[in-house]
Amino acid sequence: MTDRKAELAANLAKVEERIAAACAAAGRKREEVTLIVVTKTYPASDVRFLSELGVRDVAENRDQDAAPKAAECSDLPLGWHFVGQLQTNKVRSVVGYADVVQSVDRPKLVSALSAAAVRAGREVGCLLQVALDAGVGGRGDRGGVGPDGIEELAGLVADAPGLRLDGLMTVAPLTGEFAGRQQAAFERLMDLSTAMRVAHPAANMVSAGMSADLEQAVAAGATHVRVGTAVLGVRRGLG
Ligand SMILES: *Cc1c(COP(=O)(O)O)cnc(C)c1O
Repeated sequence: MTDRKAELAANLAKVEERIAAACAAAGRKREEVTLIVVTKTYPASDVRFLSELGVRDVAENRDQDAAPKAAECSDLPLGWHFVGQLQTNKVRSVVGYADVVQSVDRPKLVSALSAAAVRAGREVGCLLQVALDAGVGGRGDRGGVGPDGIEELAGLVADAPGLRLDGLMTVAPLTGEFAGRQQAAFERLMDLSTAMRVAHPAANMVSAGMSADLEQAVAAGATHVRVGTAVLGVRRGLG
């Protein structure tokens, strides 16, 4: 094994241990939680190592970086998640490789994704990104629809050709009533998921928790955690 692959293997083992412990503490089965490794800013060679180490889901947040990486790794059995703020002019590219877009947060993006998916002959899974710090009718600083906008947006995705409504995603807010209260934030997301599933029972994915707060997400009931730093190391610069 190369040094880098051994490093990734050791980090993955630690993250796996944390997820398993969090599941045990919450009385959940380990299979109820899927690890998505966020590979943003790291090279395709790392994605390849992760695949060899058994990772099945990876996530990226910038199309410029993700598109060439996904192309280089197209022979690998990986699910690709897009988790970044998405401009409509990038949608056609993203639909070319993303199996799931976790950052759906406005009607214009739904229509653009739908048109691109139909054109590409693909079905794209969609999570609505929820901004728990958004005011009424508002949006989050880092994207996301406010809780009061979920119902309308869910209906639009569910009715859009080429799209599949898979569930909800959030990033723990840095401001507002949930600042510093990750578990309360993730529990709120679970309540919003339960409410949405009355009309959309199959949309049962709940994506929450990152390197610093995956335990709180698992405790709250998340089905997917998105872990970058704890597997790949601290990112340099933005990302
Ligand atoms: C970068 C990122 C993550 C992973 O964050 P880490 O703290 O590195 O684990 C998760 N979700 C989103 C949306 C991200 O942009």
